[in-house]
Amino acid sequence: MNHIIEPVSRLINQLSRLPGIGSKTAQRLAYYIISSEDNQATDLADAIYYAKEHIRFCCVCGNITDSEVCYVCADDSRNKQLYCVVKDAKDVLAMERTREFNGVYHVLGGTISPMEGIGPDDIRIKELLERTTKGDVKEVVMATNPDVEGEATAVYISRLLKPLGIKVTRIANGVPVGSDLEYADEMTLTKALEGRREM
Ligand SMILES: [Zn+2]
Repeated sequence: MNHIIEPVSRLINQLSRLPGIGSKTAQRLAYYIISSEDNQATDLADAIYYAKEHIRFCCVCGNITDSEVCYVCADDSRNKQLYCVVKDAKDVLAMERTREFNGVYHVLGGTISPMEGIGPDDIRIKELLERTTKGDVKEVVMATNPDVEGEATAVYISRLLKPLGIKVTRIANGVPVGSDLEYADEMTLTKALEGRREM
């Protein structure tokens, strides 16, 4: 990329690190940003700073929030005896879009992946166990992605929770195998939730 001047190549490099952005798209975005009105580029940079500064993790479930506790955990109308375990905050958004789930979440912040060196201690399983032993939970729905890591994580957690007398269920196979929850449409996800089976 030595024919591209340094300030532009620096921007392209940063943009191409984003998920789903290839080098062509990164180039297109970079040239768009530098030729846009001054305030548009500054607004974008400010929005990134602002989001990073103001977002933290819910002290109960691990969801992203701009206050101590996320809006789901703070809502008294939600069923606190029903947990939905997801990989990350994007999946909370996907589940919320269905408007079918009235329980609360537990965000793991990843899935067990020996290939990537991620073990059970690297994700929020300990916190889940603490929550379930403290609270009065009746059912835990495992809604990790239907890929190898997601399945392995669901099985691992179910083996820890079942001896505690907690019903553990797995969302049905409506979500295409190997895909991410966030890309499933609302109807598919609703069906997957409705058709959940005990593990
Ligand atoms: Zn929360």
